Amino acid sequence: IFITVEGGEGAGKTTVLERIEQDLKNSGYAAVLTREPGGIEIAEQIRAIILDKKNTSMDPRTEALLYAAARRQHLVEKVLPALEAGKIVLCDRFIDSSLAYQGFARELGVEEVFAINQFAIEQHMPDLTLYFDILPEEGLARIHANKQREINRLDLEGLAFHHRVREGYLRLVERFPERIQVIKANQPLDDVIAEVRNILRHRLKM
Ligand code: C5P
Ligand code: MG
Repeated sequence: IFITVEGGEGAGKTTVLERIEQDLKNSGYAAVLTREPGGIEIAEQIRAIILDKKNTSMDPRTEALLYAAARRQHLVEKVLPALEAGKIVLCDRFIDSSLAYQGFARELGVEEVFAINQFAIEQHMPDLTLYFDILPEEGLARIHANKQREINRLDLEGLAFHHRVREGYLRLVERFPERIQVIKANQPLDDVIAEVRNILRHRLKM
C-alpha cells in the first residue's frame, strides 16, 4: 500500500511519520519511510537545487519541473520496488504538494501541474493520503521554535503564500474525498499519532 502524507510547513508530518514507521515495524510490517523531494541520491541533489537560498531567480515552471523530475526518479528507484516487494510505503509529500504549492499557491494552474505530474508518475497515484491540516500561523511558529530545522528558501515565503497552500490542499480534499483524509495537526503530537494509528488500523486491518 502506498501512503502519502501532506500538509503545510510545521504540520508535524516528519515527526509523526517516524513514530508510525516504528509502530508498523513493531507490529511486524515491512515499512519504508521516505520523503520528497529526495529519498534517493539523484532526487536529493535536485532537492538541494530547489531549496538553495541562493537560487532566488528560479522560474516557477522550472521549479515545478524539477519537483516532477525528482518525483519520477524517486518513484522508479525506491517506491515502486518497495511496493512490488509487498512493503508499506510511507512517503512524506508527493503529487498533492505540487498541486497545492506550485499549481495553486504559485498559480501555475492545478490542471497544468497535474498534467506534468501525470507524465512523471503514470498511473501510480497513492492509495491513501493523510493531509495534516494546520493554520499557517501555528505551523510557522512551530518551525521557528525548532532550532534544529534549517530554514529553506520556501520557508521565507510570506504568510499569504502559506494560506494559499492550505486553501489549495482543502480543495484537493474536496476533489479526492475517497483518497485524502484530514488529520487535525494542531493537536498535541500524541493525539495526532493516535488519529493516524486509528486510520491505519482500519486500512491495514491491524
Ligand atoms: O516537507 P519539507 O519541509 O521537507 O519540504 C521542503 C520544502 O519544500 C518546504 O519548504 C516545502 O514548502 C517545499 N515544497 C514546495 N513544493 C513541493 C514540495 C515541497 O514548495 N511540491
Ligand atoms: Mg517535514
